[in-house]
Amino acid sequence: MTTVRLKEYRSPIRVGKIMCLGRNYRAHAEEMKSDVPESPVVFLKPSTALLSSGSTIVLPKFSHELHHEVELVAMIGKEGRRIPRERAIEFVAGYAVGLDMTLRDVQAEAKRKGLPWAVAKGFDTSAPVSEFVPRTSVADPQNIVMTLAVNGMIRQRCNTGSMIFPLDVTIEYLSSVFTLEEGDLIFTGTPEGVGEVHPGDRLHAELGSLATLDANVEAED
Ligand code: MG
Repeated sequence: MTTVRLKEYRSPIRVGKIMCLGRNYRAHAEEMKSDVPESPVVFLKPSTALLSSGSTIVLPKFSHELHHEVELVAMIGKEGRRIPRERAIEFVAGYAVGLDMTLRDVQAEAKRKGLPWAVAKGFDTSAPVSEFVPRTSVADPQNIVMTLAVNGMIRQRCNTGSMIFPLDVTIEYLSSVFTLEEGDLIFTGTPEGVGEVHPGDRLHAELGSLATLDANVEAED
């Protein structure tokens, strides 16, 4: 799937680049024993990583440690470059809850060797997202309770107000590096509580009462 759905919008929207923030919640940076960053930590996923709700996350054969990271996801609605913080939210078409699925063993080895995270973060099925809700239905993107449950047990719960770099600052920064285009996605980072999932597990994420995401995990055969 390289398209996503925006509620009340007839046709699917083709996804361009997927930009992701690392360490955007203080308590998560601490649990990863990483420094709290002074500017956003950015990495990319290919659009082929996308997965719609109700689908299966596939753990590749070359990894033995798959982690969940629940995140607020923003979809860009129009092209922009060098967008000032004050106008940033105008460029958002909608919001979803997503999972930045991570091969933690592959990422740890990449970190150790100073290599990129593309494999650990960008493998097929690494970016499940819910349906998007229009920006106009979200009063404040920095005040939403987000949860993730695995097999019915809550593993992550936060308010999006705890982000180090709020969405407007993130868009200002990203648009100083990349031209943002309609259909681009921004994964805004995960709060604390990340952990391992195994084949057979069922994941359920909620973005307030706005959106829900379900996925199950299987091993590659
Ligand atoms: Mg993440």
